[in-house]
Amino acid sequence: AATVTAAAASGGAPHLLLICFPGQGHVNPMLRLAKRIAAKGLVVTFSSTSAIGAKLVESSGVSVGGDGVPLGGGRIRFEFLEDGFDGSDLDELMRHLGTAGPAAFAELLARQEAAGRPVACVVGNPFIPWAVDVAAAAGIPSAVLWVQSCAVFSLYYHRVHGLVEFPPEDDLDARLTLPGLPAMSVTDVPSFLLPSNPYMSLTEAIQQQIRTIDKATWVFVNSFTELERGVVDALRGVATPPPPPLIPVGPLIELEGDAAVRGDMIRAASDCVGWLDEHPPRSVVYASLGSVVVLSAGEVAEMAHGLASTGRPFLWVVRPDSRALLPEGFLDAVAGRGMVVPWSPQEQVLVHPAVACFLTHCGWNSTLETVAAGVPVVAFPQWGDQCTDAMFLVDELGMGVRLRAPLRRGAVRDAVDAAVAGPDAGAMRSSAAAWSAAARAAVAAGGSSDRHVEAFVEEVKTRAA
Ligand code: UDP
Repeated sequence: AATVTAAAASGGAPHLLLICFPGQGHVNPMLRLAKRIAAKGLVVTFSSTSAIGAKLVESSGVSVGGDGVPLGGGRIRFEFLEDGFDGSDLDELMRHLGTAGPAAFAELLARQEAAGRPVACVVGNPFIPWAVDVAAAAGIPSAVLWVQSCAVFSLYYHRVHGLVEFPPEDDLDARLTLPGLPAMSVTDVPSFLLPSNPYMSLTEAIQQQIRTIDKATWVFVNSFTELERGVVDALRGVATPPPPPLIPVGPLIELEGDAAVRGDMIRAASDCVGWLDEHPPRSVVYASLGSVVVLSAGEVAEMAHGLASTGRPFLWVVRPDSRALLPEGFLDAVAGRGMVVPWSPQEQVLVHPAVACFLTHCGWNSTLETVAAGVPVVAFPQWGDQCTDAMFLVDELGMGVRLRAPLRRGAVRDAVDAAVAGPDAGAMRSSAAAWSAAARAAVAAGGSSDRHVEAFVEEVKTRAA
């Protein structure tokens, strides 16, 4: 009965509520999924913590409450938990989410009901495993969006269920083999699974999501069938316990008409694209380590001198929290050739013809965005799934080279040279171009991921009818 009311209350379109872990690498894919679903005719509310809400209002101009913005056949709107937490310590955040999250989310669901906008389906994501339980308690079906690769899902799944023995962390020669994946050294597996991992609260939350994953009716993944066919097929062969079928709906990249609703938590510099316009094709090095990685002062200096020593123009994202670490006089010394910004409109940058290569930490969003844009990489992973993604980009897709720690200016220069002009650079570009075409086909109308979103939306509509 609740779902029938949902359909009626929003002018016939069922109302779907996304609840997102507070991190840029989660907000982007969740918001892009929200846009895909809205475009196919549902009313979608995007939600996260109150702190994320404040940042999105300030940096991306989203407006909270009301009917939201029309998008394709549906609408997208924003409404946030009233959880009041504003700290920055990760363990504290995880504790807070675990204790205050479920009640705040139940209240948000009740608020929808009270506003005559009951929720027909919830979409949660892996670092907030309780979202599915709260939805179930309210009698609402739910989905989960896995925001990392299928390969990483498989690694977690095998580990959580004890289906494979991981090599000891200090045995660099040992290899881990999982069906559908290349043999991996311990440096290729997500560092959240290693004993030395300092972020145990995150590991716990992810493991909990894996343990309870079959409570969700749909398990979406930000990937596309053609990209990870081997591992998706291999997961189907795991018998005990059987994993849920992964439904690829990615790459969740910005599509035409999407840009009106953005999810930046730092305001993107407005002059990047104009600056790129002034440069010849394939001349600029774009460097960004995402929203979380922090370099030491020494590493920032090596990166700065390394980028300068390439002799190429570069666009470098140095977040406000690291700006003070730039070497003295650096900005003046590179003025005209190097542009340093606190945040970039990354997807617009990557698709710009002036960009020659992407020096990236290999977060999964950045990985998929560079695949979709067809830009070769210098892979500089730090932790988490970035290590697995770097292996994937360099060894499996043949899209670039690795830059290894400890970070040295000469190594930065050599890696950029290898990716842009070295003997293998042409092959890397061809490979990147082929994967770009496959990625775009997957999300274009009728592509593999588009069909998966379409089928889901139809099912939600049918259930709500
Ligand atoms: N991003 C951006 N501008 C920047 C740096 C990053 O828009 O200057 C976006 C990027 O496009 C990606 C997200 O922030 O969608 C970062 O997610 P990712 O998974 O790559 O890394 P994380 O930040 O989670 O480590």
